[in-house]
Amino acid sequence: MGAPKKPRNAPNTPVQVTEVGWPEWVDAIATQRLREVVRGDRIGHAYLLSGPKGVGKAALTRAFAKALCCPNVSVDDRSQPCGVCRLCRNIERASHPDVELFSLESQAMLAEKPGRGATLTIETVRRLRASAALLPLESERRLLIVDDAETLLEPAQQALLKTLEEPPRGVTLVLLADEPEVLLETVRSRCQEIPVRPIAQAAVERALHGKGVELKLAAELATLSRGCAGWALAAVLDERLLAARRTERESAAGWIASPRYEQLVTAFRLGDQFGKRRAEIIGVVQAAIHLLRDEMIESARTSSRMVENQTTNLSTPASMAPSALSLSRAIAATLGCLSDLEANVRPRLALEAMVMAWPSSEPGRN
Ligand SMILES: [Zn+2]
Repeated sequence: MGAPKKPRNAPNTPVQVTEVGWPEWVDAIATQRLREVVRGDRIGHAYLLSGPKGVGKAALTRAFAKALCCPNVSVDDRSQPCGVCRLCRNIERASHPDVELFSLESQAMLAEKPGRGATLTIETVRRLRASAALLPLESERRLLIVDDAETLLEPAQQALLKTLEEPPRGVTLVLLADEPEVLLETVRSRCQEIPVRPIAQAAVERALHGKGVELKLAAELATLSRGCAGWALAAVLDERLLAARRTERESAAGWIASPRYEQLVTAFRLGDQFGKRRAEIIGVVQAAIHLLRDEMIESARTSSRMVENQTTNLSTPASMAPSALSLSRAIAATLGCLSDLEANVRPRLALEAMVMAWPSSEPGRN
């Protein structure tokens, strides 16, 4: 991993990526749930924030930490931190002594190893347990955040379970997980789970524009974001993220547009390579879902337009395009394939079943 490339945004319009208070680009329901916790002063001892990478789990957790630690919260709404005091700023830059982050990145930094590694180790959980025993220095409670929690292997989860079962007073654990289903049921059941869901594409675009990202780039990033504004904001600063996702989308488009035989050949090839290229293949399948969804919306629009103007343009190729119904079947099959792949269930069969439900470009498709 090299240093992130410089932003491609116009140099005189700096992009604002840090947040003062609660990020507006994160799922409003999840945000409200955490704000209610603060307002009601009923802070639990463990939360599990689940949702796709880049959806804003970490940004939401930082806002929660500020709301809990800020000495200057709003008089009208105690869940609103000032965002500018020393404590709020320290939380934003991850240097508040009572808000500690455990992640693949912090683990690698501590071990002075290159790369992030693939799993949070049992040593990291032991460090967390030791940290949980400390008294708060500047605030009333300590907040221990475990990012990448889905990478905890079973022994590490068992070690974490001890802290979840007997939480020290004044300590709150916040686990952030992209795929919460890989966590042990005993771990999940001891946390209050708050799903953080993707937001509408238009909302991602608005958020980017509001942060100073120029319109054209904001529109492209929103299209590729899958509703994850955090990913889009990161991609403003790191071109590689955008390039990777463009490639995924192009691969998916080519795959969907190919004749049935080639669709199947690709499915078998990717199925056989799944062990080595898991993240990339899941990315292409996710891109396929979004392309099919876009096509379905377009198809619904076209058919309603045709009903409105029945006398005109009867020769348009719209009648050749797959119907909204066949596209919705294709989307359902692709979603099913995605959950099988995420659960590592028979990748080759999952991909085969998916493409068999796709529209094929041969005559008489649908
Ligand atoms: Zn503050």
